[in-house]
Amino acid sequence: MRIGYGYDSHRFAEGRRLVLGGVEFAGETGLLGHSDADVLTHAIIDALFGAAALGDIGSHFPDTDAKWKDADSTKLLSAAVTELRAAGHEIANVDATVICERPRLGPRIDEMRQRLAAAMGVGIDAVSVKGKTNEGLDDIGAGRGIAVHAVALLFERFE
Ligand code: MG
Repeated sequence: MRIGYGYDSHRFAEGRRLVLGGVEFAGETGLLGHSDADVLTHAIIDALFGAAALGDIGSHFPDTDAKWKDADSTKLLSAAVTELRAAGHEIANVDATVICERPRLGPRIDEMRQRLAAAMGVGIDAVSVKGKTNEGLDDIGAGRGIAVHAVALLFERFE
């Protein structure tokens, strides 16, 4: 078994769509970023690459590459998982904590889990997403952006 940890944060920016875990939150302020700025999916990708010791999201999908401009991050997640499987790894489970003052995530948690599970080719029971506020503390608490912590557990596939 191998464990990996991922972290990401993005600041809010007017005129952008908000996408978290592949789910669009219509009417909410979006996040600044080269891709769709899906901070949840990015943290999970880093947890997975970290568990496999295969670098990080920036080394695989550089934000200097026009190919990833406005990219759907769940496609990057699928590509990352394809790479992990090619290296003999399989996903045991993923757990993520999304920290933001808004939007309220509760009603959309299962939708995000479903989208992420589909992108990784695992069951929804292997994917946990939890939402928290930062109780008004620091920049995240002041509502300036969203931060995500994620962990992933991989196991070796024997054939
Ligand atoms: Mg990011």
